[in-house]
Amino acid sequence: MAISEEQVRRWLSAVKATGDDADLVAARRLEWVSILEDGIAIKLHLPDIAGEPPAMEAVAGACLESIRQGAVRAGERVRALLVQFVNHSGVVIRESAFEASSKGALRPASEQSPPPAGGGQKEAPPPDESIGINATHVIAVGAGKGGVGKSTISVNLAVGLARRGRAVGLLDGDIYGPSLPTLMGLNTMEPNVLDGRFQPFLTHGVKSMTIGKLVDADKPLIWRGPMAHGAFKQLTEKTDWGELDQLVIDLPPGTGDVPLTMAQSLNLTGAVIVCTPQRVAQDDAIRAAKMFEQLGVEILGVVENMSVFVAPDGQEYDIFGRGGAQQMAQRLGLPFLGSVPITMDLRKNSDSGEPASNFEGESAPQKRLHRALDELLNNLESQLALASIRQAKGTPSLTIR
Ligand code: ADP
Repeated sequence: MAISEEQVRRWLSAVKATGDDADLVAARRLEWVSILEDGIAIKLHLPDIAGEPPAMEAVAGACLESIRQGAVRAGERVRALLVQFVNHSGVVIRESAFEASSKGALRPASEQSPPPAGGGQKEAPPPDESIGINATHVIAVGAGKGGVGKSTISVNLAVGLARRGRAVGLLDGDIYGPSLPTLMGLNTMEPNVLDGRFQPFLTHGVKSMTIGKLVDADKPLIWRGPMAHGAFKQLTEKTDWGELDQLVIDLPPGTGDVPLTMAQSLNLTGAVIVCTPQRVAQDDAIRAAKMFEQLGVEILGVVENMSVFVAPDGQEYDIFGRGGAQQMAQRLGLPFLGSVPITMDLRKNSDSGEPASNFEGESAPQKRLHRALDELLNNLESQLALASIRQAKGTPSLTIR
């Protein structure tokens, strides 16, 4: 879509903010605009009408109308619009989705309050060979190769979602090289089994499980395909997750049998692909994207990690050449979720198991990092909402060219 964020903001400045004379944009009620591959997502913070669904519906309708008219004037077509209402902590309290009919007119796709934290359940019972998990969204994080920061991104997505009030689980699927014990600060914790079920480790507001805490850390994990899958299935199903809004799964790197079988056996909402800007990393990421496509798993988007180095003085250096993963995502027609810079703080917080610190701090690199993570989370949440709508309606997902 050739529509810009600026255009959407301009169009929405025609919508009055309730209780204010000013419009949504001038009154700073428009918190976020995201231009997605197949639609537009916006977030509004309207505390005056937070408890009034009809009033929120009216505002969503007015936004729809302004965007529709703006798009017609610009000669553009909008295929979907997602209007999310958030509270002061950024948690979505209601959402209205509109999608284009066959004639192109945008009409309501769903109008509902999102499930409360910890609520929601997948409808279809999983087939025998699949893995059952009680989570509204199951997100696999994959990468074409190791070392690109797949585990780091998984951890920060999970912690970031938990900080937004979501009930989040994080599963270390990287059974050959589990890194969650270090990244989530589990090293001094002991595993706990209750009624035959593993109790997840609770740190930074996230329930985590990793095989790294259940086997001898010094022994190499040389499981072959079926054994590896059996271990992963047990780890997933025997963990007492409770009800989750999101389960983030850190898949093993690559596109071999193990990540493939894992992705296949999970009822995934979608996959996130992590990539660095270099050409070789992109080629591997394309292979990962094709693997998900073959499995019929929707790709929620691509994350560019290590896109730029932010020095302690705030100066930025393009070590690997920034923007490569974004261009790759564009070429493949995949959503781009955002880029995460290299910072010393991120590396230190990862090594010391303090990921929550990535969202705090006032230094230039710290601010740059939490801005990047916030943007990533906003885009991910929008993509999750759109994926749920598409999957509920059985509309086709993106195809990799
Ligand atoms: P993968 O899971 O892809 O093998 P990891 O997430 O384990 O990769 O990251 C590899 C190393 O790179 C870790 O030491 C991690 O702390 C570091 N790292 C990853 N992303 C960043 C980043 N954006 N800035 C600084 N260090 C990073």
